[in-house]
Amino acid sequence: CGIVGYVGRSTVSSDGTTATHGALDVVMEGLRRLEYRGYDSAGVAVLTPNGIESRKKSGKLSNLVAELEARPLTASLTGIGHTRWATHGAPNDTNAHPHLADNGRLAVIHNGIIENFAELKAVLLEQGETFLSETDTEVAAALLGRIYQELSAAGDPDPLTHAMRKASQQLEGAFTLLAVHQDSPGIVVAARRNSPLVVGLGDGENFLGSDVSGFIDFTRRAVELGQDQVVTITPDDVVITDFFGAPAEGKEFHVDWDA
Ligand code: GLU
Repeated sequence: CGIVGYVGRSTVSSDGTTATHGALDVVMEGLRRLEYRGYDSAGVAVLTPNGIESRKKSGKLSNLVAELEARPLTASLTGIGHTRWATHGAPNDTNAHPHLADNGRLAVIHNGIIENFAELKAVLLEQGETFLSETDTEVAAALLGRIYQELSAAGDPDPLTHAMRKASQQLEGAFTLLAVHQDSPGIVVAARRNSPLVVGLGDGENFLGSDVSGFIDFTRRAVELGQDQVVTITPDDVVITDFFGAPAEGKEFHVDWDA
């Protein structure tokens, strides 16, 4: 239902090394701002030197906060967060997002509905994939994970972006998808079809949100993505294409309402 993504970097200043923001702080603040949309579960994933770490809980955001206090995450500059409004599978901890794939190396969050998830799931099961949840989202995650593996084995320099484009071509319905992979540090990739996605532009950091509330505390410069587009954000870059890799441009605007 609500989506936030963040990537920042450490910068060397005159008084030592400082970072932009912590990914978890940005993502949790964004999820709080997005609470107005309504939700039944919430979850986050961050990329750390030890790999992907994620926490998710059904119920209020305060349940996730308690979980994060009980089981803290390693500090990180790359993260994603989600509030869920269940459409496929009960609102429980297992069905909450993020969903992991590629042996826990890939984390995916999703707004919307993948209409052809049953067909895709049948094929993936035949290929030996296993599923923990009842969601349509985990099917998209597994598909993305398989394509990532293939591309990465073939030496693709940016398998996450390219896998997102290829997976999106196969997905029907309405989706905003965000993904991070532990072998693609410092990037968050997103795709949208029939579901909103906005990029927030920062200085040495960039943001993603299902709407501008996801990053309003951090930047007022935003870019709205068009239909059927994929965006890759790094701390210093935002690259937008269509699902086939043709360069595309979003519409930049300034958010001037009071938050
Ligand atoms: N269809 C997905 C699910 O049920 C995503 C729902 C949402 O937009 O939050 O998990």
